[in-house]
Amino acid sequence: MYDVVIKNVQLEKDVVTDIAIKEGLIAKVGFLDDVQNETIDGTGLWALPPYVESHIHLDTALTSGRPYSNQSGELFEGIQVWNQYRQDYLSHEDVVKRAMEVIKVMAGQGVLNIRSMVDVSDPELTALKALLEVKEKVAPFLQLQIIAFPQNGLCSSANGAPQLEKAIELGVDGISAVPHLESTREKGVESLNICFQLATKYDKFVHIFCDEIDDSQSRFLEVVASLALETGLKEKVTVSHINAMSYYEEAYVRKLLGLIQSSKIHVVTAPLINSAMQGRFDSYPKGRGITRVKELHGAGVNVAVAHDDFLSPFYSLGTGSLPAAGHMLCHLVHMTGTDDFDSVLNMITVNPARLMQLQGYGIAEGNPANIILVRAEDAHDLLRRQPVAEIVMSKGVIIAETPPLKTEWMPQKAKSTFF
Ligand SMILES: [Zn+2]
Repeated sequence: MYDVVIKNVQLEKDVVTDIAIKEGLIAKVGFLDDVQNETIDGTGLWALPPYVESHIHLDTALTSGRPYSNQSGELFEGIQVWNQYRQDYLSHEDVVKRAMEVIKVMAGQGVLNIRSMVDVSDPELTALKALLEVKEKVAPFLQLQIIAFPQNGLCSSANGAPQLEKAIELGVDGISAVPHLESTREKGVESLNICFQLATKYDKFVHIFCDEIDDSQSRFLEVVASLALETGLKEKVTVSHINAMSYYEEAYVRKLLGLIQSSKIHVVTAPLINSAMQGRFDSYPKGRGITRVKELHGAGVNVAVAHDDFLSPFYSLGTGSLPAAGHMLCHLVHMTGTDDFDSVLNMITVNPARLMQLQGYGIAEGNPANIILVRAEDAHDLLRRQPVAEIVMSKGVIIAETPPLKTEWMPQKAKSTFF
């Protein structure tokens, strides 16, 4: 009757059930009496919807060290290295190869939805064209959204805005701006006006790189929230980073939180790159490089955690693991209570799914059978140990399996009775 059944799998803490799949959809969630043709033993495994990566750069991934390493680790040297890489190495084949490799690594760990930024400063739009091809290639098993990102600014570079419009015509899902990197505050505001005008005209997502600088005077978040309200784009708008918020005065934060709440915009934080990149100009004690996640989450703002850079000129580490990014967040923002772990797990699953407006996300009858099976008891256990998903299923088909790590003791060889 069904194509495959996952038997005795944990759905939530202390709730075990069966999940039946037919024609790529979840047909039934509940115990089945009759014997089925094909079953997966879910004993000891937890069924979760796939992880959702809401901010990564597939065009810069896996380039770390070429043409040279970012020795200072600072953003500005990273931009220099990337501009050089673009001139010397960037080609269609190069981007396709690296992006596919990263997607393979991430999908193997249970990520089946990715929002990638792509730098559109290059007049030929080489990386964008390559990623549009990748999007088609992976579509049978993974949903890829592409956001056009003007790394060198919209107003401070000669062709920023026309490049963005060219990118829209090629078929991106959303557009971006980097107001804090524009040469003046006024140009920063102007870049946001341009971005929102284009997004309204072409009905696109807005995903702003916002206040990614340890500067209490960088206050573009208020402009983004106001524009989201004025244009009505609201839930289609996301801001990433907003590190500067950690440096704002308390009275101003209070005003800002109200504005963010009413604007309905989403926030993405990237604890791995943020903690590595920010706080570098502070004297001791140094800032933690992360925005006010606890306050934002407490105020009901939809916050997602992203992995972001992966072996790039900006970040020389990265494994593609979203539980690892969540683990880092728990430390940086002091979210270590039992309820906090549940919240952080939501930040790598349902919360980013909401900002990407994914349809049919979650384990429920009628939804596509996109399911990962992880050997973990609960959110705390998962975030503490960060086990890789043992089974990754996309539309009812197992696309990746990773056997659990198992240590074999060697008492004879070790010549010890200890083992
Ligand atoms: Zn980024």
